[in-house]
Amino acid sequence: MSTKGEDVFRKIVAHCKEYGFIFQSSEIYDGLSAVYDYGQTGSELKKNIMDYWWKSMVQYHENIVGIDSAIFMHPTVWKASGHVDAFNDPLIDNKDSKKRYRADVLIEEYVAKIEDKIEKEVEKAASRFGDKFDRNMFIETNPRVVENKQKIEQIMSRFVKSLEANDLKDVKALIEELGIVCPMSGSRNWTDVRQFNLMFSTQIGSLSEDASLVYLRPETAQGIFVNYLNVQKTGRMKLPFGIAQIGKAFRNEIIARQFIFRMREFEQMEMQFFVKPGEEKHWYEYWKEHRMKWHTALGIPASKYRFHDHDKLAHYANAAADIEFEFPFGFKELEGIHSRTDFDLASHQKYSGKKLQFFDPVTNESYVPYVVETSIGLDRMFLAIISNSYNEETLEDGSERVVMNIPPALAPIKIAVLPLVKKDGLNDKAREIFDYLKYDFMCQYDEKDAIGRRYRRQDAIGTPYCITIDYDTMQDNTVTIRERDSMQQDRIPIEKISEVVAKRIDIRKR
Ligand code: ATP
Repeated sequence: MSTKGEDVFRKIVAHCKEYGFIFQSSEIYDGLSAVYDYGQTGSELKKNIMDYWWKSMVQYHENIVGIDSAIFMHPTVWKASGHVDAFNDPLIDNKDSKKRYRADVLIEEYVAKIEDKIEKEVEKAASRFGDKFDRNMFIETNPRVVENKQKIEQIMSRFVKSLEANDLKDVKALIEELGIVCPMSGSRNWTDVRQFNLMFSTQIGSLSEDASLVYLRPETAQGIFVNYLNVQKTGRMKLPFGIAQIGKAFRNEIIARQFIFRMREFEQMEMQFFVKPGEEKHWYEYWKEHRMKWHTALGIPASKYRFHDHDKLAHYANAAADIEFEFPFGFKELEGIHSRTDFDLASHQKYSGKKLQFFDPVTNESYVPYVVETSIGLDRMFLAIISNSYNEETLEDGSERVVMNIPPALAPIKIAVLPLVKKDGLNDKAREIFDYLKYDFMCQYDEKDAIGRRYRRQDAIGTPYCITIDYDTMQDNTVTIRERDSMQQDRIPIEKISEVVAKRIDIRKR
C-alpha cells in the first residue's frame, strides 16, 4: 500500500470508530481479530446496502425469489460442494518472524510489484510523448515492458500449474527462486508450504457420543443449491430463474488484515441463476453487465471499478470474473460472477441420491440446470462505499470539514432536524417536524451545540439533508434545508420537506 493510501485508510478506520460505523468485536477485552461489530450508524448503512441489493435482485426481477437458509447444514453438503477436500489456502511461515502468510498472496504481491514497474514505465513515456502517445503500442514494443510482462506470465503459469497439481514443494521453490522475503523480518527462512482448510467446525448434539461434526457455512450459495427443487416446485419457477440470499458466512482466514475487507465472520449477498445448459454464456455476460450497472448507478465514478477475468478457473467453472474496486490499498475483488456449469447441482444429486433436475415442457426432457452466480461481500461493499465517501475539505473561509459523501440513497440518516436554539418554542416545533418525518425517513433530532457544529456532525456521518427550524419558521412555517455536498441552503415550506428529500434520495433518479 502506498503511504498516501495507508494514511487515508488509517483515517477511515478511525473515523468509522469515532462516528459509530464500526467497532472491533469485544473491544473491552482487547478485541477478537478479524471480527467486527457495526455500530448505530454502520448498521443503518449496512441495512441500506442490503435493501438496495435485495430490491434490485428480487423485487425488480419477476423471475428471482429470495430465501433465508440456515447457517448449519448437513455435513455431507460440504463434501459434495468440495469444501471439505479443497477449501484450502496454501500457507507458509517465516521461521524468523514467526509470521504466517498465504503463499499465493506472497506471489501475487511480487507480481503486483512488477506490474507497478510496468505502469511507471508507461506513465513516464506518456508524459514524454504527450498527445502522440499510443499506450497499446508502447506496451507491446518497449523491451523492458515486454520482458517484465513475460516474467509475470512465467511466474503465474508455473504457480497455477503447481497449485493445480498440489505440488506444494514447487510453490515453495518458486518463492525461494524469486527471492521473496518476509515483510516483517526481511528473511528468506521459510517453512514448507502446506494446505489449511478454512472452514470452522463445531459439534451438534448435547452428548459427545451423539455429537456430529457440523461446519459454519463458508458461503451462502450451498443453502440455495440444496433448496433448488423446493423453490422450483413450490414457486412453480421456469428456467431461467434465480434464487437470492443474504446471510452470514464464516472463514478461518489466515491473513485477516485490512479491516473489514477480510473477516472471519462476514456477510454475503449471493444469487444463483439457473439456466438451460448452453445458455450460460449469454447469462454470464448479462449478469456481468447488470451487476456493474448496479454499482455505477450509485454515482461512484466508473473509473473506480474494473473487471478482472480469471485466468485460473476453478474446476467447476467455465467462465469467471471479478468486479474489482479501487480501495485505498489498490484494486481488489469486490464481487465475483461465476459460470458454475452443473457442478453443484450434479454433485448434490450424486451425494443425496435425489434428482435435482428441471423438466422442460418445451423439449419434453429433464436436465440438471446450469448456474450463473453473482456473489458479493456485504462488508466489502460497505468498505467500498465508505472509502469512496470519506473526504477532507477545506472550505472558503479556511475551515476544514470531514464529509462522508455517501450516496444519498444509502445514507444512514436521511434528515437531521435541528432547532436553531432550544428555546422560544423552536425545539417544540422541531420535535413536531421530526415526529412527522420519522415515518418516512430515518431522521435524527439534535439540539445540542452551535448549529455549525451540528452540521459538521451530520457531514461526518453522511446525512444528505439538514433541516433548520428558526424564528421565521414560527411565523411562516418554512425551514432551511441544507444539502450536504454543496452546503447550499434553501428555504422551503414544511409540507414540502418530504417531497423534496424523497425525490433527491431516490436511486432511480440517477
Ligand atoms: P478472496 O480471493 O478475496 O479471498 P474469494 O474469491 O475467496 O475472495 P468468494 O468465495 O468468491 O471470494 O466470495 C464471494 C465474495 O464474498 C467476495 O467477492 C467477497 O466480496 C466476499 N468475501 C469473501 N471472503 C471474505 C472475507 N473473508 N471477508 C469479507 N468478505 C469476503
